[in-house]
Amino acid sequence: MFCKGRGALHVSSLQFEIGEIRSRLPAVAAYVYAFADGSSGMRDVLGGKGAELAEMTSIGLPVPDGFTVTTEACRAYLAAGGTWPEGLNDQVSQHLAGLEERCGRRLGDPDDPLLVSVRSGSPVSMPGMMDTILNLGLNPRSVEGLARSSGNERFAADSYRRFVQMYANVVLGVHGDLFEEAIARSKQTRGVKADVELDAAALRELAEEFLAISRAETGREFPEDPREQLDGAIQAVFASWNTPRARTYRRHEGISDDLGTAVNIMQMVFGNLGDDSATGVVFTRDPSTGERVLYGEFLVNAQGEDVVAGIRTPHPIAEMQQDFPDGYRELEQAMTTLESHYRDLQDVEFTIERGDFYVLQTRAGKRTAQAAVRVVRDLVSEGVIAQDEAVQRVNAAQLDQLMHPAIDPGAEYEVLATGLNASPGAAVGRAVFDADTAEARGRAGEPVILVRWETTPDDIHGVIQAQGVLTAHGGMTSHAAVVARGMGKPCVCGVESLRIDAGARRFSVNGTTISEGDEISIDGSRGLVISGAVPLVPPQMTDDFAAVTAWADEARRLGVRANADTPEDARRAREFGAQGIGLCRTEHMFFGDERLPVMREMILARDEEGRRAALDRLLPFQQSDFEGILEAMEGEPVTIRLLDPPLHEFLPDLEDVDPSDERLRSRIKSLREVNPMLGTRGCRLGILHPEIYEMQVRAIVRAALAVEGSRAEIMHPLVAFATELRRMRDLTERVIEEEGGGKLDILIGTMIEVPRAALLADRIAPYADFMSFGTNDLTQTTLAFSRDDAEGKFLAQYLEDDVLSRNPFETLDDGVRALIERTVESARGVKPGIKLGICGEHGGDPDSVEFCNSVGLDYVSCSPFRVPTARLAAAQAELAHR
Ligand code: PEP
Ligand code: MG
Repeated sequence: MFCKGRGALHVSSLQFEIGEIRSRLPAVAAYVYAFADGSSGMRDVLGGKGAELAEMTSIGLPVPDGFTVTTEACRAYLAAGGTWPEGLNDQVSQHLAGLEERCGRRLGDPDDPLLVSVRSGSPVSMPGMMDTILNLGLNPRSVEGLARSSGNERFAADSYRRFVQMYANVVLGVHGDLFEEAIARSKQTRGVKADVELDAAALRELAEEFLAISRAETGREFPEDPREQLDGAIQAVFASWNTPRARTYRRHEGISDDLGTAVNIMQMVFGNLGDDSATGVVFTRDPSTGERVLYGEFLVNAQGEDVVAGIRTPHPIAEMQQDFPDGYRELEQAMTTLESHYRDLQDVEFTIERGDFYVLQTRAGKRTAQAAVRVVRDLVSEGVIAQDEAVQRVNAAQLDQLMHPAIDPGAEYEVLATGLNASPGAAVGRAVFDADTAEARGRAGEPVILVRWETTPDDIHGVIQAQGVLTAHGGMTSHAAVVARGMGKPCVCGVESLRIDAGARRFSVNGTTISEGDEISIDGSRGLVISGAVPLVPPQMTDDFAAVTAWADEARRLGVRANADTPEDARRAREFGAQGIGLCRTEHMFFGDERLPVMREMILARDEEGRRAALDRLLPFQQSDFEGILEAMEGEPVTIRLLDPPLHEFLPDLEDVDPSDERLRSRIKSLREVNPMLGTRGCRLGILHPEIYEMQVRAIVRAALAVEGSRAEIMHPLVAFATELRRMRDLTERVIEEEGGGKLDILIGTMIEVPRAALLADRIAPYADFMSFGTNDLTQTTLAFSRDDAEGKFLAQYLEDDVLSRNPFETLDDGVRALIERTVESARGVKPGIKLGICGEHGGDPDSVEFCNSVGLDYVSCSPFRVPTARLAAAQAELAHR
């Protein structure tokens, strides 16, 4: 421990002293630990901050001296309804006496007072739980002592008014505005603009005024006795554990209410004692690039909060070398020690008080995704960490950032509205309101953003040519979201405040109107809609990124496939490391200028003969689509799902049909359903119209025969009954046979998308070579949440009010997890080797991937751009499991 003040004791006598304290307290729990007695491993007892202060003390770093009141003391205090547990008072007295002795100063001393800071610190980080109290120990007498010992009247007066302000606010509950208003009045009277321009006399007056405010608001005197001040501060920290904001934060983050918080009492050191003092924040490596250089800023003659508050412009840390050569050397040494001790990039706060260097805090530094991969790769090559540890260190969800353009972090912009962050990355373009315009202008080389109420498969040509998609309706599994994610295009969905007038080609939102051709920007990683063009930075898929994902492949058990419907997506999926396609949706193969009219002809045909004739004309299109995809996958398996959406999706809206076209109108009416998602779709279509599935199977077999070495798999959607799959399997096998595809060993399987199939998987498994969880539909059918409507309606409110903590369309819900577990058990019970995977959007969500690994699925399948994330998440799940 470091008390570079006067009269510090020798370490050996301190250890003796601590031993003595312990031996005098045989019966009661140890509620207080000196920094010298703790360690990193005592987080539960000392909280995160206290444990790291202790750890840094024990490795010999110059940490200001102090002690920590334990989380157990907090729990006991709260359990007793606000009474100190037996022994705590004595232990605080003894540790305070020890601290005073080591520092050679007393709290509240009228000549040369010791001052302390009081901070909360729970076992898990809870930012902003309780504000810090600085300069505790000041009163009308000790402030004079501080002025004398520091030789700086203004400093003493300022320290006092800050203390009264903080203490009255945080501990006594006086509203902070009252003090700010008094400061503003004082500046106005003296004709100055900034706080720093207030002189000692003004600050002394302010302190008096603050004391009067406190008295008036609380009805009692502000405490002058330093020990009373300390006890009040400790209690305030304890009580802060149960404030509404702390409770809300814990509920949101899933942190237990039973942990309690520790209280850290630390000797104050000052960076604002003159030009030989300074304070700063520094990272052991550059947190935005990961480069191995000291990175940070410092301010001469300033306190920590001045660096953060931006009142004065701090200097780059390298300049400290000239101003404080000794301090800089000590800083460098401390940074090296910290990094090699914690084996990670550290974010460190330090202070130089009259030439003496102190470390105040260290923690793992927040970093960009680019820096995250570089840092772990460098740490591996420096021999600091092992490959597997590197894989575990990178935040899988953060990898997404590296795969797409992002808004330049330095850019300034105004957010018009927010919606769902449906597909990551940022895009800039001119607003267009229909797919044809998007296609025409996009093809002509103009960047456009397609703005729609929601998209349908009919808009696909516009989506392809757009830079990004913005919709007013729909959720994380809406068409726009799924398609955009698949293509790696940014998408913001469900911006309910968007008022789109497609006819007039404009939208308005929160008082701003955007017309066709106006530039807008969207950020699909954060769900932002922005007026005008913001500067973007390109994707950052560097060598470091490639190295870390390759290490992940060595560690994982789970296979990773991609959801891809076109040869281009398939190729990209391969580049991103996909080991096959887990879901090739085929509905888009019925759209487009050449195909849709034929599809409509098929739907409108009067008899089977007419339907078959139309389907015969669609077959070559589909066959060539399948060939392209099978070729792109170079012998990796490709799971092709037969037609799933209801047929009405291929017909125009009734309002758009010529009134004289009676045939079309009556067909549209006959296909209309109140709940189409629960209607004639999935394998029900195959049962009602076997000729559609026959055509698709024929096209698949012919394509598989044409592409040597290909591995096609055929998947049936929305199966609920074993009989459905048995019939569809018979059909599939018959057509494979008719086409001479017997030797291809085409696997035939089913999606699991309805609870009945999940609950009775043992009945279905005999007819399935594989099962793939379609968790978009399975979530919809299990929760009875419409995947098209819930997010725009009640789900946002549910999340806001903490009825639910996660969006179930993003991260697997517990009910859906239970069904998956049940399916795995029951299907493997009758068919141990059955291949099991997931192809809903959850297949790219790290938490869900971890679950899939733990229940023993064989693979996950997700959008191509999420494949690297899934590879990393799968490796992390496996390493954690081991
Ligand atoms: C699903 O339901 O999870 C699925 C993958 O199919 P789709 O999203 O096409 O309904
Ligand atoms: Mg589905």
